[in-house]
Amino acid sequence: MDRPSDNLSDSGAVKRKRTRWALLFVLLLLFSLGAFSGSYIYTMKIDAEEERVQYESELWELGFELSKLQRENRDLMEANHNLREQLEEEMQYVDSLMLRLERVTGEVETIRRLEKIDPELLKKYSKVYFLNENYQPSGLVEIPERFLPPDKDEEYFHEEAWPFLLDLLEAAEDDGIDPRIVSGYRSFEEQMELKTRYSVIYGDGANRFSADQGYSEHQLGTAVDLSTKALGGALWGFENTDFYSWLKENAHKYGFVISYPEGNPSYIFEPWHWRFVGVKLATEVHNRGKYFYDLDQREIDEYRLYLFDR
Ligand SMILES: [Zn+2]
Repeated sequence: MDRPSDNLSDSGAVKRKRTRWALLFVLLLLFSLGAFSGSYIYTMKIDAEEERVQYESELWELGFELSKLQRENRDLMEANHNLREQLEEEMQYVDSLMLRLERVTGEVETIRRLEKIDPELLKKYSKVYFLNENYQPSGLVEIPERFLPPDKDEEYFHEEAWPFLLDLLEAAEDDGIDPRIVSGYRSFEEQMELKTRYSVIYGDGANRFSADQGYSEHQLGTAVDLSTKALGGALWGFENTDFYSWLKENAHKYGFVISYPEGNPSYIFEPWHWRFVGVKLATEVHNRGKYFYDLDQREIDEYRLYLFDR
């Protein structure tokens, strides 16, 4: 027979038993959870650590690569800088060579130009330095008849200097003058003949009157004896003509100078005798109030290059 107290104590024991089991289960569950999460966290931590190490090593490698590139870049910049400096130096050298080349080319050009200009055309002639009897101008042109006095049928002048003389004659005509050319080029023989004629007439005085044969500027082809139509082509009295006054003012513009001015120590005053020496030298002589024969030969020679310049 069941006792109520027995029944009561029986159900209490069952309950306790159940509670114990439940508790045990919960504990087991908690333990399992803890173990699982612990191992999970541990695994995660290991993975993170590995990743960190990997990243760090990659970072280090990248840093190494970067510094290597920077070093190479620096080397290249330096090499580039050196190359530029070298290039600049070479460019400067090339420039200096070009300058030298230009200078030498200019000098060669000057020499070539000088070679074409007869040095005799600017020589001072005297009883010490005279023109060779075989000398002949490089080229002569016949002076147009309208510029000759009636008793002359032909006269010649230096081919290259002629355009300057023509300009002079035409400019004088424009100013109301009737210019005439009594004498232009004279060969050595013609000069000798003339001298003989003068010597017969004037004796030894002819030496101061007409240049000795061979000394004469007329043999160059660049000297003229001038007169006017009104004077009938005579030389005497030329110093009183308008043409002579005009020449003193203007002849230098066309490259002409008076060779034997009043009071010169070599010959008598020859107002009619004018010589072509180039515009540059004639202008220089005129502006300085000097005469061609006053200048040193060395100074005169510096104008040779410009003899036929306008
Ligand atoms: Zn003369």
